[in-house]
Amino acid sequence: MAERRKFKKRFCKYCELKIDIIDYKDLGVLKYSLSERFKIMPRRLTGNCKRHQELVTIAIKRARQTALIPYIVDRKNVVENPFENVR
Ligand SMILES: [Zn+2]
Repeated sequence: MAERRKFKKRFCKYCELKIDIIDYKDLGVLKYSLSERFKIMPRRLTGNCKRHQELVTIAIKRARQTALIPYIVDRKNVVENPFENVR
């Protein structure tokens, strides 16, 4: 419950930042839609618009194929902030 409060504000981060093309190499952009276990966050939690959610889903899947982000995160490997070294 406490975790859900983080996503209370419902607005699309990508619209706010005026991002038209989501690059799969730009993890700083993708991290808005990834959970701490590198899973794609559902739209109802992030508040992304449909268009950007679709774009970011493709970008995340592409990033997984290129090994930029892992498919599965082991329980031991879950860290407090996985994006510490990004940006
Ligand atoms: Zn949007």
